[in-house]
Amino acid sequence: MVAAPVGDDVYEEDPTVNELEARTAALLGHEAGLYCATGSMSNLLGVGLLVQRGEEVLCDEEAHIVRAELGSHAWLHGITSRTWSSGGTGRATVEAVERMLKPHTGFLVSTGAVEIENTHNFGGGTVQDIEELRAISQLCQDRGVGRHLDGARLWNAHVKTGIPMHEYGKLFDTVSICYSKGMGAPVGSVLVSSKENIAKARNQRKLLGGGWRQAGIVAAGALYALDHNIARLADDHEFAGLFADAVNAVAPTAIRVRPETNIVVMDTGEQLAGQIVAQAAAAGIRLSAVGERVVRAVTHLDVTADDCQKAGEIVGRILNAG
Ligand SMILES: *Cc1c(COP(=O)(O)O)cnc(C)c1O
Repeated sequence: MVAAPVGDDVYEEDPTVNELEARTAALLGHEAGLYCATGSMSNLLGVGLLVQRGEEVLCDEEAHIVRAELGSHAWLHGITSRTWSSGGTGRATVEAVERMLKPHTGFLVSTGAVEIENTHNFGGGTVQDIEELRAISQLCQDRGVGRHLDGARLWNAHVKTGIPMHEYGKLFDTVSICYSKGMGAPVGSVLVSSKENIAKARNQRKLLGGGWRQAGIVAAGALYALDHNIARLADDHEFAGLFADAVNAVAPTAIRVRPETNIVVMDTGEQLAGQIVAQAAAAGIRLSAVGERVVRAVTHLDVTADDCQKAGEIVGRILNAG
C-alpha cells in the first residue's frame, strides 16, 4: 500500500484505483467499476441507477439496504421499499419476488428494481440458490425490472459453491462488492455495471462528496486481497462451523441453523442480546446484537481455529446461563 502508484482519482488518473475497478468488473462479468468508500455508498449508487424517484425497490425484510443504510435510498433518490419475509433466513425465492412485483402501475408505486443480498448477512451468511437467482433474474428481465446484487460477501458464496463470480454477476444489472469485510482490506467497495451506468454513478459519487483523489493507497489493499485472500475464506467457513458446534454443545437451542459461511446467528432465548454482548465482551469475545434476542458472530482472517473453538465454548456457557 505504501508503494502503490497513485494519481488523482477524480480525474480517473489513479492507476491503482483504475486497476482495481477494471479487475473487479472483469471478475464479475461487467464492463466497468467504481471504487467507493463503503458498501452502503455503492449500494446507494447501484440501486439509484435502476429505480426512478417515486418508484420502489423490493428486497428481503432483513436486507442491509433497508436495515442498515439509514433510509439513504429514500432520502437521496426518493425510493420507497417493500419487503418480503424469508422467515429470517434471507433465502430469496422467485415465488416471493413474483408475488410482489408491480412494475408499470401508472399512478401507483411501480417496482423499479429487485435487490438480492448474497450471502445474506442477517440471515446468517446464507448462500442464495443459483437456480432461484437465475429464475429471479429472468423474471425481472421479462418484466422490465432492474436487478441489483448486494454482494458485500459474494466472495463467500463463490468459495462455498465453486460457482464463478461472473456467473453470479451476469444475473444482475448492478453489483456491489466489499473488500473491507472477510477479504481483509482496510477500506472500500466496488460497484460494477455497464460503462454508461458507471459514468453516471461516478458523477453521483462526486455529489456525495465521495470523489477521493489519491485513493490508490487504500485500493492497493483491495488488490492485495484479490490476489491473496479469496481461497482462504474457506477457513473462515470451517472455523464458523467449529464455533457453532462448540456453542451448540453447551447451548443447544441457540443455533437455529449450522452456518453455511462465516456468520453465526444465535438466539439468546430469555436473555436480551445486549446482555449477552456485554458478557461476551468481558470475556474478550466481540459479538454484535442484531435483534432484541439475536446476536451474531463473524469469523475472519484474524482468528484461528483454536480461537473459534474456545470462543464457542465461552459463548455457549454465557447463553446457557440465562
Ligand atoms: C457490510 C455490508 C454492506 C456495506 O457496509 P459498509 O459498512 O457501508 O461498507 C452492505 N451490505 C451488506 C450485506 C453488508 O454486510
